[in-house]
Amino acid sequence: MKSLFDLKLDDLEDYLEKNNIKKYKAKQIYDWLYKKHIYSLDKMSNLSKELIDKLNNDFSTNLLKIKRIQESKLTNKYLFELDDGNLIEAVLMRHDYGNSVCVSSQVGCNMGCSFCESGRLKKVRDLTPGDMVRQILMIEDHIKERISSVVIMGIGEPFDNYDNIMSFIRIINSPFGLAIGARHITVSTSGLVPKIKKYANEDLQTNLAVSLHAPNNELRSKIMKVNKAYPIEELMDAIKYYIDKTNRRVTIEYLLLKDVNDTHECAYELAKLVKGINIYVNLIPYNETSHIEYKTSPNSHVMEFYDILKKNNINVTVRKRFGDEIDAACGQLRANEVEK
Ligand code: SAH
Ligand code: SF4
Repeated sequence: MKSLFDLKLDDLEDYLEKNNIKKYKAKQIYDWLYKKHIYSLDKMSNLSKELIDKLNNDFSTNLLKIKRIQESKLTNKYLFELDDGNLIEAVLMRHDYGNSVCVSSQVGCNMGCSFCESGRLKKVRDLTPGDMVRQILMIEDHIKERISSVVIMGIGEPFDNYDNIMSFIRIINSPFGLAIGARHITVSTSGLVPKIKKYANEDLQTNLAVSLHAPNNELRSKIMKVNKAYPIEELMDAIKYYIDKTNRRVTIEYLLLKDVNDTHECAYELAKLVKGINIYVNLIPYNETSHIEYKTSPNSHVMEFYDILKKNNINVTVRKRFGDEIDAACGQLRANEVEK
C-alpha cells in the first residue's frame, strides 16, 4: 500500500479533487503530518469521518521502526527498518548552525565503488519519497528538535533514483511540509552525467555535491566503476553545465585514501583540473571499515594535500570527522547488521 508520506502536496490535492473533496484539505493533512507530527488519521480532528476512512483505506501512515541508535556527542546514527523489513541508516549531525541529517536513498547501491560499504551490498530497491521523508520525521521526533538541513549522502546513489529524490525534495522543501530551505538541501552523486544535466534544469535552489575522489581517469576508474561509463572529461563538462545553468557553486568531494589518491601529484593534478571552475573541494578523511583494505590518510598527507590546493587558489576545506567513535562511514551500520 502506498504511504501517505509519499505524496507531494500537489499529489495529495489531485487525489482529493479526483475524489470530489476540497483540495484545501491537503494543506490541513500536511499540517498534521509535518507541523504537528500527528500521524494517525483518526486524530486529525478537522477531517470528516468519511475522509479519514477513505484515506485509511488508500494509504498507510506507518512510521519506520528504529532498530538501533548509536549516540555520541555530536552525532546520532540510526538504523531503521522499512515497511518491508529492509534496513537503512541515517545520521544526525549537530552543528553550531543547526541539525543536519544525512539520509539514505536506496537499500544498498549498485555503483560498486571499491572503498564503500554501501556498494559492497547490492541494491535491493530504491527508497520511496516517504521512506526518505520518514527518516527525517523519526529523527525530529527522537531528538524533539527541528532538522534544518539535509544531505542525501547516506546509502545509495540518489541519481539512480531520480524521480523519487525530486519528490522527496519537494515534500521536505514545501512551506506546508517540513519547510527545509532549498539552500539547505544537498544531493551527492558519484557522477551520473545525464542526471546532473537534468538536475541543472529543475526549478530548484538545492545544492549539488559530486564525489570525484581522483584527478584522472586511470585512478578514478580503479576506485569508481562509474568512471568507465562517465569519464572525468564528461563529468567536468556536466559540472560546468550545471554551474552555468544555476549559478551555484558545486562541492567536489574528495575522499583521501592513504597512498592511493593522497599524493602530491594527485593534489597538483586536481588543482589543475578544477582551476577556474566555481567549485570548492571538500577533503574527506576516509573512515576505515573492517571489510575493505584502504587506510585513512595520515594527517600529514591531508595537510600537504590541502596546502597544495590552497597555494593554487582552490577553495578547500577538510571535513570535520563526525562520529569517529561510531561506525560513521556510509553503510557501515547496515553492513554489520546484515552480515550478523
Ligand atoms: N552515492 C552518492 C552518495 C552517497 S555516498 C555518492 O557517492 O556521492 C556519500 C559520500 O560518502 C561519497 O562521497 C562517498 O564516496 C563517501 N564514502 C563512502 N565510503 C566512505 C568511507 N568509508 N569513509 C568516508 N566517506 C565514504
Ligand atoms: Fe554507491 Fe556512493 Fe557508495 Fe559509490 S560511494 S558505492 S555511489 S553509495
